[in-house]
Amino acid sequence: MSQLPYEILPHIVPMKTVKSLNDSDYDGMVLVSHTLPSHLELGSLKAEVEKAIKIDKSVETDGCIREVNFPAQRLIYSPTGPINRDYDDARSYSEAAAKGIKRALKAGVTSPLLILPFERKFVHADLVTLLGALEALYVPIQFREDVPEKNSKIKQLGVWGPDPSAVNTIISLALALEIGRSVARDIGGGDPERMSPPRVEEYVTNIFKNNPHIKLQVIKDVEVFKKEYPLHNGRILMLEYEGEGPIDCTLMLVGKGVTYDTGGADIKAGGVMAGMSRDKCGAAAVAGFLKVVSELKPKRIKVIGAMAMVRNSVGEECYVSDEIIASRSKVRVRVGNTDAEGRMAMADLLCQMKEKVVSGEINPHIMTLATLTGHACLTVGTGYSIVMDNGPARENGQSKLLQEAGSILGDPFEISTIRREDFNFHKDKGEGVDVLQCNNMPSSRTPRGHQGPAAFLILSSGLDKHGLDSSVPIKYSHLDIAASAGDYPDEPTASPILALYAAYLEGRH
Ligand SMILES: [Zn+2]
Repeated sequence: MSQLPYEILPHIVPMKTVKSLNDSDYDGMVLVSHTLPSHLELGSLKAEVEKAIKIDKSVETDGCIREVNFPAQRLIYSPTGPINRDYDDARSYSEAAAKGIKRALKAGVTSPLLILPFERKFVHADLVTLLGALEALYVPIQFREDVPEKNSKIKQLGVWGPDPSAVNTIISLALALEIGRSVARDIGGGDPERMSPPRVEEYVTNIFKNNPHIKLQVIKDVEVFKKEYPLHNGRILMLEYEGEGPIDCTLMLVGKGVTYDTGGADIKAGGVMAGMSRDKCGAAAVAGFLKVVSELKPKRIKVIGAMAMVRNSVGEECYVSDEIIASRSKVRVRVGNTDAEGRMAMADLLCQMKEKVVSGEINPHIMTLATLTGHACLTVGTGYSIVMDNGPARENGQSKLLQEAGSILGDPFEISTIRREDFNFHKDKGEGVDVLQCNNMPSSRTPRGHQGPAAFLILSSGLDKHGLDSSVPIKYSHLDIAASAGDYPDEPTASPILALYAAYLEGRH
C-alpha cells in the first residue's frame, strides 16, 4: 500500500482528573445529577441551582446556566430527570451528560469540567456519564481530515469526583472504550467514498499497525473469494487477539460491512437509498471492539473479529435474483432479492468460524453483528439492539447476559427467539436448491422479518448441524443492530461495543 500523506488516528478527547473544583484551567462546570448533590464541596453549586429553581420551576427538568464563585465561573446544570420509575435506565446519565456538554459548547465553554454523579442506583452512573460527554465531543473523521484545525471541540475535559483515584480508574476505562467507539463511528459514519472497502482496509491497517496485540489479515483476491467465500466479494479483514492465558473464552465476531447498499439489481427506488452508507456499522463495531480489546488487554480471552466489507452495487458484475450459488458449507442458495446482501456477505465467514470451532477453540461463542433488517427498527424502535440465540447459546443464557450487561452501560438489547417458522420460510421449494436467501418483499413488510435472516444464516453456514442435538453444539447469537446503530443526521452510536465490553471483558483487565 502506498504511503499516506497523513497518519490516521482515532479521535481522542484530551482528558484529565481534576483534584480541586478551584482548578483555574477550566471555564465551565457541567453538573450531571439526579438530585441536587449533598456533597460538601458542591454546597455552593447546590445553593445556586436552588436559587434558580425558586424563580423558574423548569430548571428542575431542563437545567440552567448560572454564574458561580469558582475559577470556572459558569455552572451548567444538566439534570437526569427521574431515575426511579420502572422504565428508567442508565441512559438518563449519558443523555444528560451529552446535553450538558452541548449546552456548555453553545455557551462558549472551551475547557469543561465534568462533575460526576454520586447516585448509586445505577452502579456505573459515573462511567456512563463520562461516556455520554465523550460521545457529544466526537468529531466525524471527514471533518477532522478536511478541516484539521477543527479536530477537537474543546481544549481539554476535566473530570471531578469526590475520590480522585476512582476518577483516574474511570477515565482510563472510558478512554479505552471511547477510542474503540470512535473507530466504530469513523468506519460506520464515513461516507461511501471515504469508507469504501479499500479505504476501510487502509483505515483498519493504519489503526492496528505496530500493534503487538492484534493480528490482522486482509483478504482481497477474487480467486480466493471464488474458492473460499463464494457468497462474498470485496474485502475481508480478520482481526485476532489472544490474551494472557489460560484462555477460558473465545469470542468470534462476524460484522456486516456493506459500505453502500443500493439494494443491488433489486434497487432501492423511490428515495429510500439515502443513509445506506450506515450499512457497515456491524463491521465497524467489530473493529471498534477489537480496538477496545487491544487497549485493555483482557486476560484469559481470545477474540477473533471478521469484517465483511463490500459495496452492494448495480452494474455488470452485480448478482441478480434467481442465481443459485453454493456456499462455503456446500449449501445451495437461491437469491430471492439482491437487497438481502448482508446475510450473503456474512454466511461464508460464519461458516469459517464454525470450522475453526470444530477444529478446536476453547469455550467458543460465535456472533454476527449487522444492521440487517428494517424489520428490526419496526419491532423495537430506535436505540435498541436485538439478540437471537441458537439452542446452545440460549441454554447458556447468552441473550440474557448481553441484555443485562448492556443495560448497565446504557446499551440496551431486546431478546427475540428464532422459531421453526423462520427455518421453514427459508427452505427453498425448488429442486436442487436448499435455501432461499430472501422473499421478494422488504423485511419491513415480511412477518418475522428480523428472525428469518438469523435462520438463513444458520442454514447457509451449516450451523444447523451444531444445535443442541448435535455431538458438537456451537453457541451462536445473531445481533441485529439496525435500530441501534444510529441514523442520519446523528453520528453512529457504536452499539453494541459497550454491551460486549460489559458482558465479556469486565473483570478481565
Ligand atoms: Zn440491502
